Amino acid sequence: MNFNGAQKEAIEHKDGPMLVLAGPGSGKTAVITERAKRLVELGVNPRKVLVVTFTKAAAVEMKQRFLQKMNGSYAPVQFGTFHAIFFSILKHAYHYSPNQIIRVEQKRQFFRDILSKYQLDIQDEAEFISDLESEISLVKGEMMPLEHYYSSNCAADIFRDILNDYNTMLRQKHMLDFDDMLVYCYDLLSQRGDILAMWQSQFEYVLIDEFQDISKIQYEIVKMLVEPHRNLFIVGDDDQSIYRFRGAKPEIMLHFEDDFKDTKKVLLDVNYRSGKPIVEAALKVVSNNEKRFEKKIYANQKEGEPVSVVGFSTMREQNKRVVERIITLHESGVPYKEIAILFRTNSQPRALMELLMLYNIPFCMQDSIPNIYDHWIARDIISYIKIAMGNRERKYFLRIANRPKRYISREAFEYPEVSFEDLRIFYQDKKYMLDRIDDWEYDMEWLKDQPPYAAIQYIRKSIGYDDYLQEYADYRRIRVEELYEVLDELLEGCRPLKTYEEWFLHMEEYKKELEAQKKQDKKEEDAVVMETMHRSKGLEYDTVFIIDANEGVMPHNKASVQADLEEERRLFYVAMTRAKRKLYIYYSKERYNKKLEPSRFVYELIEKNRENF
Ligand code: ATP
Ligand code: MG
Repeated sequence: MNFNGAQKEAIEHKDGPMLVLAGPGSGKTAVITERAKRLVELGVNPRKVLVVTFTKAAAVEMKQRFLQKMNGSYAPVQFGTFHAIFFSILKHAYHYSPNQIIRVEQKRQFFRDILSKYQLDIQDEAEFISDLESEISLVKGEMMPLEHYYSSNCAADIFRDILNDYNTMLRQKHMLDFDDMLVYCYDLLSQRGDILAMWQSQFEYVLIDEFQDISKIQYEIVKMLVEPHRNLFIVGDDDQSIYRFRGAKPEIMLHFEDDFKDTKKVLLDVNYRSGKPIVEAALKVVSNNEKRFEKKIYANQKEGEPVSVVGFSTMREQNKRVVERIITLHESGVPYKEIAILFRTNSQPRALMELLMLYNIPFCMQDSIPNIYDHWIARDIISYIKIAMGNRERKYFLRIANRPKRYISREAFEYPEVSFEDLRIFYQDKKYMLDRIDDWEYDMEWLKDQPPYAAIQYIRKSIGYDDYLQEYADYRRIRVEELYEVLDELLEGCRPLKTYEEWFLHMEEYKKELEAQKKQDKKEEDAVVMETMHRSKGLEYDTVFIIDANEGVMPHNKASVQADLEEERRLFYVAMTRAKRKLYIYYSKERYNKKLEPSRFVYELIEKNRENF
């Protein structure tokens, strides 16, 4: 590779702090790996060179690039994620074993157990837990004192209680989570000068990629580690900071010189990755952000294929087009693994996945797709059906007693098994309640023996579950369409099935399939990549599809304040800049008979790029 002048300056830099600030595709990662090689050539002990990034995939990728460069000569430079490095420090001091790190599923179970103690009015437990997880990361990562902390997910005192319970539970089981790793490591290194000194001499040169995503506590640890020699080399792009919600602080990079006064600064301004129209379109979008460090970015390729922005009448049409395009691309010689489908949230691509399977197109799903039948709405529907089938477990009653509102109190369900007779006795002197119970029983009788498809429709329309969801969506200020989509997906999945038993069997099989997909390691295989925009950071593909570029999806409807919106825009920018040759941005105009708006980001770039269709 012919490195340009600025790149060379960064690669040749030897001692002291350096900051490389540059846009996407400008060779930041290429420069980091080349510099690691250069240091070894200059006689630095490879064991004392540490290259850090944020995801395991990125660390593995960099290591591979490095080994290729080294052409088989042995150089044990360390490549790892922050967590891996910090864990090895902890392991050394406290003899932790990796199976003490809590796994995702275990952690969720912890939270489920804890939440069952509190009487919180939560509908979507999975979502609530995932929001809690992010918030706890944020609190631990920013080293926030809890007394003055106000949760954005629940009341301040409840948040504190939940967090305390969670920490206690971890301690009792002798486990730690990813955030604890940072906290423990920070405590260890700040209290034990001898241990710190050992690691300082171990990591003589520290190189960090994607520095814009560093959190306060990570930075504090890094500062301690590089203290004596200050050989800290960082690269990043503030426009690609997308983990603010978990405590990333791009300001740390922008104010890096305050802490390291003699920092040398290099700006890289040539994008080698993408065709010119892609670079220009992406810049057009991101320049709508007010809070950013303005930088020049020139495309190295003087031309390139236009960005295609296409609106489809329905989501189904959109998905069909993605599949057709992939078939054509593959026929024209583009390997599947050079094609990526990027989405904002991992519930989006379910329908598309089914279509890819139908056409036998190999794909690898990088993120775990939530099982639709675990969704709270699915659980509600299943509860209705279980009760109609004669099951009298309390948990099923509790789920649906007040969906829609029937004003049945929790106290009415005293026993582990509930019957309509018990309810009648409980409400014996309230005529209006007795009428409601009659209606309920009538509905259950009707539902007793129906094909699942008809049952779901009856629950939605006759029992009023759709209206209940509408109220819920209004109350939470979310789009009800999103909730209806879950129901529509359930309907789609059970359309051909005749009995409830068949449906439950189908759920079992579906679950097994999802688990098999998770276990399969398709990385080596030639397969279309499906991943969230978050996960795509740092990577590149010949062709990129951004699907569901609709308002509410991206920016996500959770993004309410300006800062959130800017983060969503950066995420969109990251996604766009993954494409080398061709970028497709697709949106739908309608979904399940509701009109949809194209994303505002689409409007920000649309005039020049609209494809005829
Ligand atoms: P991102 O911000 O997305 O992480 P980056 O700045 O890390 O991007 P790289 O991934 O290092 O960019 O490089 C992007 C592409 O450009 C890679 O395919 C890389 O090989 C290529 N590239 C980088 N520098 C040069 C160069 N001087 N000449 C030719 N190709 C280059
Ligand atoms: Mg990179």
